Amino acid sequence: MNWKQFLTEKVLGECWHELTGDQPGCTCKKCGAGFSAVHYSDWNPKGFVRTFATRNDLMDLYQQVYKDGKWGSFSIFSLRKFRIDRESDYYNSWRFCLNGEGYEERCKAVAEFYGWNEQRDPVIDKNSGAYRDN
Ligand SMILES: [Zn+2]
Repeated sequence: MNWKQFLTEKVLGECWHELTGDQPGCTCKKCGAGFSAVHYSDWNPKGFVRTFATRNDLMDLYQQVYKDGKWGSFSIFSLRKFRIDRESDYYNSWRFCLNGEGYEERCKAVAEFYGWNEQRDPVIDKNSGAYRDN
């Protein structure tokens, strides 16, 4: 399971859709949601999946961490992981990506906080044969 699927299913409790086809009008094999032409502007080949590279996805994750009662322990985890000084003015702007960059990195840290681990989930790069992050 890659980290984006982990966040979608295990942390947010949403469906990581598996579509019956690759065109608008197909449905999800797991939850039955339909994907019509109405949503065409949002279409991507994997269907409607979160990218975890947006402000919205990051805030949804932070809200879930908070709802789970883990905001304090997540903050400590995050500070240690990224070696950020809690007392610095930089901290809050960094954690909320106020410069508009770093959403994906912060989202991935939430996956790691909840136990996702790429060593347990290696993916072999089809081109080089090397293990890589997925
Ligand atoms: Zn689904």
